Amino acid sequence: MSARRDLAIADPSTEPLQRLAGVGPRVAAKLEARGLTTLQDLWLHLPLRYEDRTTLLPIRMLKAGMAAQVEGRVEAVERGFRYRPMLRVALADDSGATLVLRFFHFRAAQVAQFAPGARVRAYGTARAGQHGLEIVHPSYRVLADGEDAVLGEVLDPVYPAVEGVGPASLRKLIEQALDRLPAGATLELLPASLLSALQLPSLREALLTMHRPPATVDVAALAAGTHPAQRRLALEELLAHHLSQRRQRIALQSQNAPALRGRDDLAKALLASLPFRLTGAQRRVFAEIRKDLARPHPMLRLVQGDVGSGKTVVAALAALLAVAHGRQVALAAPTELLAEQHLANLRSWLEPLEVRVAWLAGKVTGKARNKVLEEVASGHAQVVVGTHALMQDSVVFNDLALAIVDEQHRFGVHQRLALRDKGAAAGTVPHQLVMTATPIPRTLAMAAYSDLDVSAIDELPPGRTPVQTIVLSAERRPELVERIRVACRQGRQVYWVCTLIEESEEEGAGPGNARMDASAAQTTYETLSVQLPELRIGLVHGRMKAAEKQAAMRAFKQAETDLLVATTVIEVGVDVPNASLMIIENAERLGLAQLHQLRGRVGRGATASSCVLMYQPPLSLMARERLETMRNTSDGFQIAEKDLELRGPGELLGTRQTGLVAFRVADLLRDADLLPTVHGFAGELLRDSPELAERIVARWVGGGARYASA
Ligand code: ADP
Ligand code: MG
Repeated sequence: MSARRDLAIADPSTEPLQRLAGVGPRVAAKLEARGLTTLQDLWLHLPLRYEDRTTLLPIRMLKAGMAAQVEGRVEAVERGFRYRPMLRVALADDSGATLVLRFFHFRAAQVAQFAPGARVRAYGTARAGQHGLEIVHPSYRVLADGEDAVLGEVLDPVYPAVEGVGPASLRKLIEQALDRLPAGATLELLPASLLSALQLPSLREALLTMHRPPATVDVAALAAGTHPAQRRLALEELLAHHLSQRRQRIALQSQNAPALRGRDDLAKALLASLPFRLTGAQRRVFAEIRKDLARPHPMLRLVQGDVGSGKTVVAALAALLAVAHGRQVALAAPTELLAEQHLANLRSWLEPLEVRVAWLAGKVTGKARNKVLEEVASGHAQVVVGTHALMQDSVVFNDLALAIVDEQHRFGVHQRLALRDKGAAAGTVPHQLVMTATPIPRTLAMAAYSDLDVSAIDELPPGRTPVQTIVLSAERRPELVERIRVACRQGRQVYWVCTLIEESEEEGAGPGNARMDASAAQTTYETLSVQLPELRIGLVHGRMKAAEKQAAMRAFKQAETDLLVATTVIEVGVDVPNASLMIIENAERLGLAQLHQLRGRVGRGATASSCVLMYQPPLSLMARERLETMRNTSDGFQIAEKDLELRGPGELLGTRQTGLVAFRVADLLRDADLLPTVHGFAGELLRDSPELAERIVARWVGGGARYASA
């Protein structure tokens, strides 16, 4: 601790921002709300993009889509009120061309500034307007007569906004912080040998380049994120996150967990009773889990496996190892329906072995709930299956040894930690097994989950007929309606998945927008009800109440409805083996990962299944490639790799999807080549200079409480 304080004195990095001019308690609070409390935080508040005001572009050379700075004289001013207030200022320069500056919001004083003949310098992105090129809401300055305004020497950084602190003030604060960047040795945490081997600049140089790029900078590289300055920062950021995860893992693994060694009689009995043999992949993963559980330290293992790869039975086998030791197991799933499915499976497998399986969901209330809580607390319930309800404080286990979480990314960090902490009664930390059907490409798994051990069930049980995937233009919809009629007449069930095309750019409504998808589903439901009057049709969308949704899903599962019209809410985990046809409308709007998840809902039974990807022509190149990929492969890992290639990991590994932190600079795909260096160097640091490792983590990750996989 004292060593740290000494460092803090020598190094201005951790100086509070109040020492900067213009930062009083109010501004400090606003900055803090955005996570900015020290000088170093401001250094690392990196520009989102740049504006180049280092040159003036002749208006004649301006083209639509181009961002540029121009200068000209006001030729004409026009105010309009037809639909909404509007101000148009025509600007001409010596190149003989004109450009319109257009404003929808403006004050009277602004109008007065634009006297004909006034000299205006403006910056913005040109677009094609009714009367030639225009810039809407440019940033601009009216120059005084004879003023010889200088051009900028560096590109203007545009920073991520901080609420309550205007962009100009923020920029001034960052400038002040940069003026206090210490000389190399104090600031630099990476050894010169590492940087020179990778031909990367020092941190000081990298930060100055990022905040104040000289006019001569390689703008294309900056925009692509491949500039050496960005690579230098990405290197340190990746290192910091990796170190932080490794340290967390070391901390966790120094805790005690019940060693569940031997006693595999129950697991063997389950295997003997199953109507199928485990696949090689299931056996391998179970062996990995068993090895972990035998150790007196907590397991932290992620099992990735495509939909239908048979994760549940592996989880059940793991549960039996704990039960055989007289300990308890919790299994949590993100929705009631999924949890019910697990309950049904576990009861059918475990109860014949005289293992007591209890059920706890939000719906279990009153006396019934108290009874379950009592059974859990006494240890009478050996396996407890449920939803978020399992994580509540009132749920106390007698002796929880294994916590299993399905579709882990759909739970919050706190919920998962709450479950883990329930082992505390026995003075140990339970083993944790998390399962996901969202495969992370192998190339990324290591970086994404360096605090978890990852197992992959990368083989489907035999005997499944692969789903036939058909790509079809929406013009052929009538044929599909017939196809549904035939399928249902044969006693099969059908999913119809709706996503809506974005109608209005202004509302920022994208695909997956719950309100619009819901109304699309409603409309489709009504149309199909008219076209297929003999069918029983259900409807599920995200705007329905949870109970309504579940009722509709359940009715479909119990074959009380033939056709289920749904939005993408049916994505996760629901098993209806009798459903053998799926139609996905506007499939070109969905990402590969999502299409794959949806398609996994069919092909779960013995009948040959099909998935029709219906698209609205014309198809973009990217969309065509996605649909082709879907048609050519059903391997989740291959699809994930392709998805990564087409979209990049930013989207694939969105914080929401995986619970991972978002990086400031690094990009797992773009900077993947740095990872081997990062991993190797992290090992050296942890061994030889743990205090340096700590400073690197503190700089980029801070308290570290933002982690998913703790
Ligand atoms: P997921 O990995 O998507 O959770 P499930 O665990 O729900 O998959 O398994 C899908 C179906 O496959 C279940 O009906 C399950 O009983 C069955 N199953 C699991 N393993 C095998 C196997 N080795 N052989 C045949 N069927 C299996
Ligand atoms: Mg499952």
